[in-house]
Amino acid sequence: MDFSIDDAMQSYLDRADALVPQLAEGYQQRERDGCIPGEVRTTMGSSGLIAPEIPVEYGGQGERALTSGMIIERLSRADLNVTYVQVVGSLVAQILLRNASEELKHHWLPKITSGDDIVAIGLSEPTGGSDAGNPGLTAVRRDDGWVLNGTKSMSFAVHAGATVVFARTSEDRRGRGISAFLVELDRDGVVKTRTNDMGTLAVVRGFVEFNDTWIPEGNLLGEEGAAFSQVMQGFDFSRALIGLQVIGAARQTLTETWEYARTREAFDQNIGQFQGVAFPLAEADTLLTAAETLCHKTLWLKDADLPHSKEAAMCKWWAPKMAYDVIHQCLLTHGQFGYLKDLPIEQRLRDVLGLQIGDGTAQIMKLIIARHNLGREYAP
Ligand SMILES: Cc1cc2nc3c(=O)[nH]c(=O)nc-3n(C[C@H](O)[C@H](O)[C@H](O)COP(=O)(O)OP(=O)(O)OC[C@H]3O[C@@H](n4cnc5c(N)ncnc54)[C@H](O)[C@@H]3O)c2cc1C
Repeated sequence: MDFSIDDAMQSYLDRADALVPQLAEGYQQRERDGCIPGEVRTTMGSSGLIAPEIPVEYGGQGERALTSGMIIERLSRADLNVTYVQVVGSLVAQILLRNASEELKHHWLPKITSGDDIVAIGLSEPTGGSDAGNPGLTAVRRDDGWVLNGTKSMSFAVHAGATVVFARTSEDRRGRGISAFLVELDRDGVVKTRTNDMGTLAVVRGFVEFNDTWIPEGNLLGEEGAAFSQVMQGFDFSRALIGLQVIGAARQTLTETWEYARTREAFDQNIGQFQGVAFPLAEADTLLTAAETLCHKTLWLKDADLPHSKEAAMCKWWAPKMAYDVIHQCLLTHGQFGYLKDLPIEQRLRDVLGLQIGDGTAQIMKLIIARHNLGREYAP
């Protein structure tokens, strides 16, 4: 296993690092504004920092998945919400690359990598997200296309130009009757509603209703009825990326907290001189480093075309919980100032918490790990 950073990777990381100060400055303002401006996306896109693993012919850079993960970790130190553009972009781009027609690929992939547009992913529904193989959204064949009815829940619900959705296309129960589609969100019958979330407010999550919404036959992704086995594979990638996304936010908070411990005084000494302050930070550094290594290993396995579903599930349940705990500890170390909205720590805590739920809860990730080890018939 080799996670060393070669010259090509380094040039991406240098470009990411160059954007960090300006992105960090706008982190809290973008929450107040409730949006990630188009220029932020296109600035990242023009530096090759969105889904660089996509082949050059579709607007990407043909880079390694590991590079994408490292870029996300760097940018997330500045603003975790902005890196939803990378995480959702890479997830959807991979689904399209493997399952979409050439026409759809050439139309949408360059828009994703340039930051010109966002394609969201709508797997969950208001009635349930964990049981993703049992959607209420239906797609019925009509007039050389499909007619959709139902509601999906997704990040970027308000600002995305299109979304990938999973819908029931036959009465066959569970995964076998499920198909995936790309749906442009300016089509007739689409109604978007913003959710009133406690965090990730710049991303703007929401519900998207489809009321007799027609899409052409060519918008089917992969084979009819095979979405669950074909399209779900993309989530192994996004789970490792989410791990690095939350680690970036926690790492930045920890760096700030070491500095605070060096300079803040109590009982006539720097608080870092108290073991009760320094040791939890030392533990946090250890945990972040271990989780980062797990995420890098998972992406290395992906790049080597080796199975990595189990490792991806580990990244997804552990990193967001651990990052939340680290940020919580750092907030407490800042005392009353950690509790102020002036510092970005409380926002990071709220933003990271969402990723203990989004893309699948810890229980669902542990189901994947248990089934992998026990075999499906012996697992929960
Ligand atoms: C910040 C954020 C971003 C999101 N972005 C997206 C997005 O872009 N696209 C999208 O499609 N969805 C998105 N979601 C929705 C998210 O994927 C779902 O909320 C999640 O999968 C859980 O579904 P649910 O909320 O319906 O909970 P439910 O499925 O109703 O589960 C409720 C509780 O029961 C537990 N549970 C359920 N089944 C089992 C089981 N078999 N064993 C043990 N425990 C179980 C769950 O772990 C959970 O704690 C996002 C959510 C958040 C918070």
